[in-house]
Amino acid sequence: MIEAKIKQTVRDVLDFPKPGIVFKDITPILKDSVLCGEITAALVEQLQGLDIDVVAGIESRGFLFGMLLAQALKVPFVPIRKAGKLPFKTIQQACNLEYGSAVLELHEDALLPGQKVLVHDDLLATGGTVVAASKLVKQLQAEVIGCSFIIALDFLNGRERLSEFAPQTFSLASY
Ligand code: AMP
Repeated sequence: MIEAKIKQTVRDVLDFPKPGIVFKDITPILKDSVLCGEITAALVEQLQGLDIDVVAGIESRGFLFGMLLAQALKVPFVPIRKAGKLPFKTIQQACNLEYGSAVLELHEDALLPGQKVLVHDDLLATGGTVVAASKLVKQLQAEVIGCSFIIALDFLNGRERLSEFAPQTFSLASY
């Protein structure tokens, strides 16, 4: 089962990047090409029936499977990045994180009005990041059709926070 495989492979790093945080390190997953393929297939299966026009991946770990997912779905991928990283004209949105705050940006021509967007990140914690990403999508008059994650930290109630911004939330492994 994919959830068990993910949990066996993810590495817990204590007190990173701040004391008290248990960081879920997905880099051991990236070293296992078979598991990467299985995760991509499982994400695609979960999303069956959704009419996705674009996958938007959140910097930086959301780029890894976000791009694989977009390729598997045969749809475009657009990057949502931290402030100052995207080279062209951008729109901005502030967000509060589990361990700090940040501003996210999206190229102003990344999405067309009415496009159905799947927002992807590696992990859902408090939901602050993906809420800000969803607001960026909406600023461009596109629609958040769902949000997908490899891992969800359900004890932080990110799903609840996100429910106002996205109709569906998907994840492969929950804690
Ligand atoms: P949040 O906005 O609180 O949902 O935090 C989600 C973002 O922060 C994602 O981009 C994650 O990659 C990262 N993140 C937050 N908490 C953790 C954690 N415990 N382990 C790994 N990544 C985390």
